[in-house]
Amino acid sequence: MRLEGSCHCGAVSFTVEAPSPVPFLHCHCSVCRKTAGGGGYAINLGARAETMKVRGRSHLGCYHALIREPGRRTRRSKAERRFCKECGSALWLWDPTWPELIHPHASAIDTPLPKPPEVVEAALDFAPAWVDVPTGRGHVHCGQWPSESLAEWHQRHGLLA
Ligand SMILES: [Zn+2]
Ligand SMILES: [Zn+2]
Repeated sequence: MRLEGSCHCGAVSFTVEAPSPVPFLHCHCSVCRKTAGGGGYAINLGARAETMKVRGRSHLGCYHALIREPGRRTRRSKAERRFCKECGSALWLWDPTWPELIHPHASAIDTPLPKPPEVVEAALDFAPAWVDVPTGRGHVHCGQWPSESLAEWHQRHGLLA
């Protein structure tokens, strides 16, 4: 599926081919919450890095998140979190561990996305008490992250685009 995305002010826009376009993975980790998730979480999609075309690259900022774990020295994530320097919109994440993948935030996408048949609420160990996590049918809760990849989830549901 071809996705079109943009920041709020319009300085940055992009297109990308996304085999995993269903917004099913809600990430409640502190990085997603603080950088991209006013409601307590952000939603990452799976797309192919080499197909990405960006307009307005000079307006892009890059954040390498600080990873703070108890009992360990604080370190910088190698992942690049891209955002618009003019309006602050969080746009996508690229991690050198999986260089062929790029993860746009569902919130930055302008193309209508498919509604997920199941939602995975991930990284709940890091969710603050005020976040009202949906429960019941169609909601899967994970303390950390699911072992299944974005692509495997799409495959299991017959939704690989
Ligand atoms: Zn902007
Ligand atoms: Zn996260």
